[in-house]
Amino acid sequence: MKNRSRQKIAQQRIKKLFQEAEKRAKQGRMDLANRYVEIARKISMKYLVRIPKEYRMRYCKKCHSYLLPGKNCMVRLKKHRVVIKCLSCNHFMRYPYIREIKEKRKNK
Ligand SMILES: [Zn+2]
Repeated sequence: MKNRSRQKIAQQRIKKLFQEAEKRAKQGRMDLANRYVEIARKISMKYLVRIPKEYRMRYCKKCHSYLLPGKNCMVRLKKHRVVIKCLSCNHFMRYPYIREIKEKRKNK
């Protein structure tokens, strides 16, 4: 089906945008990172594809800022949940525990 392959392409683009956003955020270019998040969200809405779980945690649900731990968000692990606080708008987000974050923290 044509729609299916378009959605697949859209999903790949979203993935790339978030990878790019991460790179820019680490370079201190939050303005660019935020713009990539914006584009990714637009693609997700236009093609009705979900932003993958690991990337949905990378931006604020409220103000849509790209979130870089230690820079503009605080990440806390509570029992089986990850609590992320956006420092741009003070919005709290809670997610089920994801192993990847734990490993990232270990490496630091
Ligand atoms: Zn926010």
